[in-house]
Amino acid sequence: MTNAAKKTLIHCERLGIQFNGIAVLQDINLTLSQGDRIALLGPSGCGKSTLLNVLAGLLEASSGTVERYLQPAEMSFVFQDASLLPWKTVLQNITMIPELIAEKINSAELYQRAESILLQVGLRDKLNAYPDQLSGGMKMRAALARALLVAPQLLLLDEPFSALDDPTRERLQDDLRAMHASSSLTTVLVTHNMEEAFLLADRIFVFSHDGRILREFQVAEYTSGEVVTRESAALSQMRSDVRTLWQTDGLELHNA
Ligand code: ADP
Ligand code: MG
Repeated sequence: MTNAAKKTLIHCERLGIQFNGIAVLQDINLTLSQGDRIALLGPSGCGKSTLLNVLAGLLEASSGTVERYLQPAEMSFVFQDASLLPWKTVLQNITMIPELIAEKINSAELYQRAESILLQVGLRDKLNAYPDQLSGGMKMRAALARALLVAPQLLLLDEPFSALDDPTRERLQDDLRAMHASSSLTTVLVTHNMEEAFLLADRIFVFSHDGRILREFQVAEYTSGEVVTRESAALSQMRSDVRTLWQTDGLELHNA
């Protein structure tokens, strides 16, 4: 599909958000199209989650405009905290939302679909387990499965892997990349981790400490067609450019 043919899902223009008179997001211009893999990269407190909430329609703009061309039900959220109900099994947790919102639901079909998604995220053998029987990585897999079960047009991920240990985080990043490769899922990923943004996004919006987008990086411009890996020279180059950008913006590096 060419760029011109991609359907626009969300368009923000000169978006601003204020909380109690304090500007948290300023002059945000962003267009999200079908199939995009976007990362919002910046230090803690710069407004990334706030922007994700705006994209999800959970927050109204204080200034500027947000146009949305998809329904709230077509979006799914995954948070850092997997938020599973401890008294429900994995299967019950992930099928709960469709069962709550759908008046009539074909349970057999739903469970079949749930099983196939659990297989996809590597949790097929845990469907009857309770959350306290799962590792942190497995809980996050269950949260991903829950988000994918409704076949969202747009998956919003707010630091989903931040609480995981390094090997588990890397495995989940690789699994999400595999899902990207095998589907046209549109994702917006909030992260403070450069490597994660590089691995999981095509476009990286780098934030200032005070809620502005300093620059949009196109990963393809750095990789020139080469396969992206953690060892890519392109990653070092982009890391260095982002650091320079933040230095110029006056952000203390030890906060980055
Ligand atoms: P990030 O996700 O980049 O860490 P957030 O979007 O959570 O940042 O927050 C950006 C800023 O807005 C922070 O200073 C935070 O304290 C403030 N903030 C976030 N939500 C609210 C709210 N509901 N009311 C007041 N201030 C808020
Ligand atoms: Mg946040």
